[in-house]
Amino acid sequence: MVTVGVSQDLLASTEAELREYLARVEDPELPVSITELGMLRGVTVTERESGGVAAGVSLVPTFLGCSAQLFIERDVRAAVDALEDLTELHVEWCPATEWSTSDITSVGREQLRHVGVAVPDPDGGARCPHCGSERVVVDSEFGAALCRRLGHCEACGDPVEIMRSTSSGGRR
Ligand SMILES: [Zn+2]
Repeated sequence: MVTVGVSQDLLASTEAELREYLARVEDPELPVSITELGMLRGVTVTERESGGVAAGVSLVPTFLGCSAQLFIERDVRAAVDALEDLTELHVEWCPATEWSTSDITSVGREQLRHVGVAVPDPDGGARCPHCGSERVVVDSEFGAALCRRLGHCEACGDPVEIMRSTSSGGRR
């Protein structure tokens, strides 16, 4: 199985498999993948001298000190067991300050809207995930998770969870 010298094809296919794998790793507090949340900053693959492929994955947390980080890292590391050609994996965390809600993909925004989470723009405006109104008010700084605040929509009256716009706390 182990051959001397890993082909470029193997590196490319392992990277593709790893990216596919990472696209299925979800934030434990939100049913949205880390890829759609904009947490994946980079993937590198290199050939190991002893055979197989080593990968480096760099991630950025959505909130400083978020406990979800530990679970995400564990799930990301499990790629070593899931992918046949991957034999080594390093996880690197970028400073939390490098993430903001503008990193969330349009797919991610849609998935968050479905679970009642509003994503504010970096400049602050958040739309109600239920009715689309901009009349969203914050009731509490503390939501179900550190990265979210609790509020409600003045238009439809429904409760709204609001993501903090930056990982350093989202205070504007
Ligand atoms: Zn509403």
